[in-house]
Amino acid sequence: MKNIIEKINKIAEKIKKDVYIMEVCGTHTEAVARYGLRELMPKNVKLTTGPGCPVCVTSQEDIDAIVNLALSGIPVATYGDMMRVPGYYGSLDQAREKGALIFAVYSIDEALTIQKKYPNLVFFGLGFETTAPMTAYAIKKGLTVYSTHKLFLPAMQALLKIGELKIDGFLCPGHVSTIIGIEPYKSMKVSQVISGFTAEDILVSVYMLLKQIFDNKKIVENEYLRSVKKEGNPKAYQEIFDVFDIANGNWRGFGIIPQSGLEIKNKYKKFNAKIKYKKILDQVDFSFSRKLTSCKCGEIIRGLKSPQECSLFKKVCTSENPIGPCMVSSEGACNVFFRYMK
Ligand code: SF4
Repeated sequence: MKNIIEKINKIAEKIKKDVYIMEVCGTHTEAVARYGLRELMPKNVKLTTGPGCPVCVTSQEDIDAIVNLALSGIPVATYGDMMRVPGYYGSLDQAREKGALIFAVYSIDEALTIQKKYPNLVFFGLGFETTAPMTAYAIKKGLTVYSTHKLFLPAMQALLKIGELKIDGFLCPGHVSTIIGIEPYKSMKVSQVISGFTAEDILVSVYMLLKQIFDNKKIVENEYLRSVKKEGNPKAYQEIFDVFDIANGNWRGFGIIPQSGLEIKNKYKKFNAKIKYKKILDQVDFSFSRKLTSCKCGEIIRGLKSPQECSLFKKVCTSENPIGPCMVSSEGACNVFFRYMK
């Protein structure tokens, strides 16, 4: 470790300007804070957080939709962290307190088991290329799903296109890369390294990025060789597109990103909760979902602010009383900073 930190310091000194590296994976956000890596960086190397937490990027509209479905009597299942994300109509946890039938699950198989007892169960599907194959598998087995699944690369491309923030390099997500492989990243003309999740992985990846930046290279390198193959996992990737079409995706912090969402194909429309329960969803007033609050999750997701720059951080918004999704999710920047930054 000492050796790699020395190498980082040496190359950063040679670069002689501020360098902005964004990690775009919730697990990296957590690891960087847990190992104190931000503090180990030379002054001119800035590590920023990006849109890598699936719970955090789920739009307010989608949360309000699923809470309304639950309140109208439809049983709902989803992954644990999503239960506490507050929407305009409350969170799923609060809907459960009001009598709605809601299940927190750890796996898609659990949702399939619950569906045997509650055939009209709706699974609130979220996440990127890592979780979408499992949801696709469950849809093929007959599970009804409200999909908020997203493709990850369009968000990275959107960050570069919007250009609000200087990004010299991306620490690319390890888990997503195990599915999509290396090729798709090549469409982006920016320095990129696919990184694993140990402290050493991340430090080596930062060094590789700094080396690229110093050499003025904008290529994709793979540090996470033990898990990420060049071709990814074609079988899992194919499973996604057997069941989902690429559509516009609604992201917290961005709004609509074209061609970034996964919607259930017509062939499986009887398992698409957005079609099956259209009448209920058409009754929901989503104008409130877009109401501005003082929560800065949107800016944090785009790397424009750090959690400490939100006036509610640690004062009003805590892990026990989260105001926004970035404080709810264990991979959310606010929650991570809350736990690790003193
Ligand atoms: Fe939102 Fe809380 Fe984070 Fe502020 S500290 S941005 S209110 S989640």
